[in-house]
Amino acid sequence: MKKIQMVDLKGQYSDIKDIVNSSIQEVIENTAFINGPKVHEFQEHLEEYLGVKHVIPCGNGTDALQIAMMGLGLKPGDEVITADFTFAATVEVIALLNLTPVLVDVNEDDFNINIEAVKKAITPKTKAIVPVHLFGQCADMEAIMKIAKEHNLFVIEDNAQAIGANYTYSDGTKVKAGTIGDVGATSFFPSKNLGCYGDGGAIFTNDDDLAHTIRGIVNHGMYERYHHDVVGVNSRLDSIQAAVLDAKLPRLDSYNKARQTAAKKYSTALEGIVSITTPKTVSKSCDGICDACDCHVFHQYTLRIKGIDRDALVKYLNDNGIPCGVYYPIPLHKQKAYQDSRYNEADFKVTNQLVKDVISLPMHTELDDEQIGYITSTIIKFVNG
Ligand SMILES: *Cc1c(COP(=O)(O)O)cnc(C)c1O
Repeated sequence: MKKIQMVDLKGQYSDIKDIVNSSIQEVIENTAFINGPKVHEFQEHLEEYLGVKHVIPCGNGTDALQIAMMGLGLKPGDEVITADFTFAATVEVIALLNLTPVLVDVNEDDFNINIEAVKKAITPKTKAIVPVHLFGQCADMEAIMKIAKEHNLFVIEDNAQAIGANYTYSDGTKVKAGTIGDVGATSFFPSKNLGCYGDGGAIFTNDDDLAHTIRGIVNHGMYERYHHDVVGVNSRLDSIQAAVLDAKLPRLDSYNKARQTAAKKYSTALEGIVSITTPKTVSKSCDGICDACDCHVFHQYTLRIKGIDRDALVKYLNDNGIPCGVYYPIPLHKQKAYQDSRYNEADFKVTNQLVKDVISLPMHTELDDEQIGYITSTIIKFVNG
């Protein structure tokens, strides 16, 4: 059996080696390292793939979120609602811009921001909602867009974990994750569903004016060379990373299919175990396999466990050559940097429980049946004592 890895980037590379190598070589030969033709080609191809008017490449996913918020003109003191159960980047950029983060609880079934909690958190100072499409599945965007419209709020989608996923509206219309709100932000960190070989990110929007504003912000606030109209940043996707991404983008759908297939096999093997809850898809269009509707692209395959000692399970899996992860072990509202006396523990029941119950299994495009069989049988062996 191949050695099991949490993410197998080497295995994926071996299939696309020639294309990636020649694409990188081309950048080196023409020395267009910064904002070269590869960046523009990738930008256009991604716009086409997502069905969005504007993709603005940038340095990483955290920058993408920050620049999106700068582009919307959010001001110090504005409240921004986001999920308590996510990676810290989301709340970090809110705080960095001197906006006020307002963390709210998530759902037990899909781990995404809870709609009732969002409604409850809205005050006259609220200016934006940042849903995070956690682990590869969209938050309830229809409900979020409705709330945003009623209260005149911006919606910034953190799409770092769900590129390529579809969101299906109740009338059956499908759109790509990250293209629904005013603006979307994504990351091309190597382990993401579309990852480069270093840092990378992008911002998506259908709004021409916002796109123009953001293109200046990523480039030192310049709209005309050496004229700095606004305070900007320096955040660029470098040409070598764009070359890698442009080679991988045509394979994104098949990569996501491979993840869905692995997820389906995990769930089938673990379905009957009472102490384990396999990931749920909440889209009405999903038949539970996801590869027909692409509602879940399984950035992570995350189980919830009940009545099992998680530390002991992690150790048992590791001892048997199976890596696993706990995403995320601490709710953001309990992190030192983001504590706020206004928070009430009773409002974070789900996150407080999830941080104790979740465990993520190896998930990538190269998992084979032998590995999945070994991983699931090892878990079953542990559960049965
Ligand atoms: C990875 C990730 C980010 C940050 O992306 P970087 O490219 O590492 O800056 C932001 N939000 C979420 C939910 C992520 O998973």
